[in-house]
Amino acid sequence: QRSAALDADQAPGATSDGHEVALLANIGTVEDAARAGSTPAQGVGLFRTEVLFLGRQTAPTLEEQVTAYRAVLEALGDRKVVVRTLDAGADKPLAFAQQGTEENPALGVRGYRLARTLPEVVGTQLDALGQVARSLPEAERDRLWVMAPMVATPAEAREVAERARAAGITRVGVMVEIPAAALRAEQILAEVDFVSLGTNDLAQYTMATDRLRGELADLLDPWQPAVLDLVAATARGGRQADKPVGVCGESAGDPVMALVLAGLGVTSLSMSPGSLAAARFALRRHTLAECEAIATAALAAPDAPAGRAAATDLVAAEV
Ligand code: PEP
Ligand code: MG
Repeated sequence: QRSAALDADQAPGATSDGHEVALLANIGTVEDAARAGSTPAQGVGLFRTEVLFLGRQTAPTLEEQVTAYRAVLEALGDRKVVVRTLDAGADKPLAFAQQGTEENPALGVRGYRLARTLPEVVGTQLDALGQVARSLPEAERDRLWVMAPMVATPAEAREVAERARAAGITRVGVMVEIPAAALRAEQILAEVDFVSLGTNDLAQYTMATDRLRGELADLLDPWQPAVLDLVAATARGGRQADKPVGVCGESAGDPVMALVLAGLGVTSLSMSPGSLAAARFALRRHTLAECEAIATAALAAPDAPAGRAAATDLVAAEV
């Protein structure tokens, strides 16, 4: 017999008054997918496909990619999987492509921008994903969501959507990692079906702070009110467009931040599977109105430590 505690551990993410916030897993490999499949994650919110491409002397073939994407979908049963297209380039160079060196790699050809310099690599990946989407039974077509990283403008979002749909992908989105995209989320959502906030890069680009420089960690803090302002702007765009706005950056794994994100109107949270239980527990202990009050307190704070403290003060003692 299942105990009530076990049921609560397996339940979909929701506030105590029933407002749903899907809890999803971040993965990077087929092995990660198998592990995530054995957890109560409601699906995968971020499959980082870089691992298939990095450290190889030749690009993975369409067939190799189809096999890998299919294996990930199979590991998740009937749950949804959000696949992110290749986010290599600049600081994550592809061994099989001459990309040259860049003075400002974080501002250069990375993420979806690779479609400008290596269109065949991005095209083959979309074709592989389209082939997998088309081979799913009709009732399961919507399980495969595909999104492109590092998109800045509605025009880029339109290009992603056109290419992905032409390949046979039905659910197309982009990541919001650049302030320009956050400020224009409504216009971007006119082109695609969903967006997902990458708060790691959104913090880097909002605060003009290299995410690899440990000594600048205070500036990179996802509790920076300016970063939260951009999350709020993106969620507002999502409400106006009536389309999903997820978060798949590391910040979603902090249970107090999960409440803030829910309060700002984010519709799903994707994190490393080990963080899911704490986020589920925190959501269950608060109403949506309480999450909104916690978010308002964080946004009103003068700086990141004050925002975290103000939010934590409003959180139920056991979280
Ligand atoms: C992010 O930037 O928040 C993100 C999820 O992508 P990555 O960490 O892989 O750049
Ligand atoms: Mg990123």
